[in-house]
Amino acid sequence: MKSLLWLQTGSCGGDTMSILCADSPSLEELIDHFGIRILWQPSLSTESAASLERTIDAILADQLALDIFCVEGSIICGPNGSGMFDPYRGRAKMDWIRRLAEKAGVLVAIGTCAAFGGVHSAPPNPTDCLGLQFDKTTGGGLLADSWRSRLGLPVVNLAGCPTHPNTMTKTLAMLATGIPLELDHLNRPKLFFNTTVHQGCTRNEYHEYDVEDTSFGGNACMFFNLGCQGPMTMAVCNSELWNGRNSKTRAGVPCFGCTSPDFPLDRDLFLTEKIGPIPVNLPLGVERANYMAYKSLAHDAAPERVLNKKMDT
Ligand code: SF4
Repeated sequence: MKSLLWLQTGSCGGDTMSILCADSPSLEELIDHFGIRILWQPSLSTESAASLERTIDAILADQLALDIFCVEGSIICGPNGSGMFDPYRGRAKMDWIRRLAEKAGVLVAIGTCAAFGGVHSAPPNPTDCLGLQFDKTTGGGLLADSWRSRLGLPVVNLAGCPTHPNTMTKTLAMLATGIPLELDHLNRPKLFFNTTVHQGCTRNEYHEYDVEDTSFGGNACMFFNLGCQGPMTMAVCNSELWNGRNSKTRAGVPCFGCTSPDFPLDRDLFLTEKIGPIPVNLPLGVERANYMAYKSLAHDAAPERVLNKKMDT
């Protein structure tokens, strides 16, 4: 059995809601088949608050092993670096997190807030929030860049707002069974962050021919006008559907780039910023000059079949 402690810091609890929808594996399978013993989870545990206190004290006194430590939410450092906007038992929660992290076999940042600061650290960041080991795109989180868990891992960043349910349960299953995790440059497991949201989107053919929606409710691509960040965002949303059936872009909502370290961007999420007719941000790795040439050719080549289907319901 591997013990798991889940604490919330500056959080809406959305990742907890998300993990309840996991189906591959499900939360129940994590417990029944992958040997995870949940010591505490804020929304799922039925034990008293006093029981959580005893659990934390036992971990800190080395009387109880902590194998997997999950933190959901931004680390709140205000006011003035005291962390007392978010206290627990009379001291800053960020101090408890720091002490428990020293005991953890592995520390998992659940959600973009815990990983990079997320929503609560958006400008003007009034509560001085940051992530566990990152502050947006760079180091400078609560823990030093050089920090490693008892098993020698940096904080494992499961980004998302919320994180995809199966990304959470698969990662936890791998950690519980000792399957090695390869991490990307932002310490996200490559297995779940090596594909763009754009890949697998049902609007791809429209993107290909530059057939674009200008208002919501159509079938076409939302990249040029409606703010879609799918081609710049690494996540499995369109290759492993949410609840096994849908994704944001399939439902007609642009990707907001919620797994990226700079999420949320300080701009309109439903509007594409452009230089002339071309978006400021282009698909990952694409050269602007090449892209402009390709797009004007592609638009001229768009078949009637695609143009006619744009507004089909
Ligand atoms: S809507 Fe977004 S994810 Fe879908 S094809 Fe267009 S740019 Fe890609």
